[in-house]
Amino acid sequence: MGRMTELAAFLKARNSWIVFGHVNPDGDAAGSCIALALALEALGKRACVYLPGGLPEMYRVFPCTVEIASGDALPFRVEGGFAADVSEPERLGSGRALYDACPGRAMLDHHATNAGFGEAHVVDGAAAATGELAVELIAELGVELTEEMATWLFIAICTDCGRFGYSSTRAQTMEAAAACLRAGIDLDGVTRELYRTRSEGRTRLLGMALNGLEMDGSGRMCWARLTEDMFRRAGALREDNEGIVNYLLEIRGVQFACLAEERGSQTKFSLRSKLPLDVAEAVAVPLGGGGHACAAGVTLNLPLEEALARVLAQAEAALK
Ligand code: 5GP
Ligand code: MN
Repeated sequence: MGRMTELAAFLKARNSWIVFGHVNPDGDAAGSCIALALALEALGKRACVYLPGGLPEMYRVFPCTVEIASGDALPFRVEGGFAADVSEPERLGSGRALYDACPGRAMLDHHATNAGFGEAHVVDGAAAATGELAVELIAELGVELTEEMATWLFIAICTDCGRFGYSSTRAQTMEAAAACLRAGIDLDGVTRELYRTRSEGRTRLLGMALNGLEMDGSGRMCWARLTEDMFRRAGALREDNEGIVNYLLEIRGVQFACLAEERGSQTKFSLRSKLPLDVAEAVAVPLGGGGHACAAGVTLNLPLEEALARVLAQAEAALK
């Protein structure tokens, strides 16, 4: 029996599931969790989604009929916890205790750094998105994709593979997206909401961040800051940080880009690189974080400037 078949059997054997995403849920976490919960409901099970902090505002425009919880109270007695796109138990955030307390635990993920947890799991580091694996799992469950499921799966896949442009994109990524198209998604409508529409606050925050960008003498490193005051002045939401770091990496010649975000006494970093620099291995992991070769992150228990100096020193050494 393949791992995916085993995981499907494990899911089928229990009648009620919470599907957990990771902290600061992105399109892949939110989309995969919602689609998987819908698929479990299609099998006649009770299911809900748990996203730390709830569903990000930018995804609330898409129809979602499944319940999304973010607090401690659950709408029903739970037999199974299913983590999707969660690279390690710590990334469950406020959902960790709930997940650990579930009688049966499953997991589906595409982070190569995932060491594996839960009694039944599939980790495929070659997949461009957890959503790509979710398409396979839902087929394995014998559930036909509805337009709602397919919309969320497409969001998961498209956002994580950089609109089918990152090197992580493989034939299976496009085949999974094709399955979503066949299920009747509104491609123009979905991509307009994802890429061609943004709030005033997000736009102002982007402007402020880019206005303050800095580069090192070699032009290979670029960084910018997001302070709590900038969020206030822009009228931006926490999630409006998403994508800003890419503008820094897109500057010609830049090999390492870093966005430092003030979070109280802590600083959260979004790190990006162009190959051959593996930013997860060379910068994030040594500092206690993780992620992918070209997109990683870490949160340091230091105020912004001190934390930034630490990260830049690590990156400079890695580039040598
Ligand atoms: P982002 O910059 O979009 O927040 O994160 C990019 C990737 O880095 C995520 O997909 C995740 O794998 C990883 N990542 C981000 N922040 C953290 C963190 O604080 N700890 C760990 N271990 N990984 C992180
Ligand atoms: Mn994710």
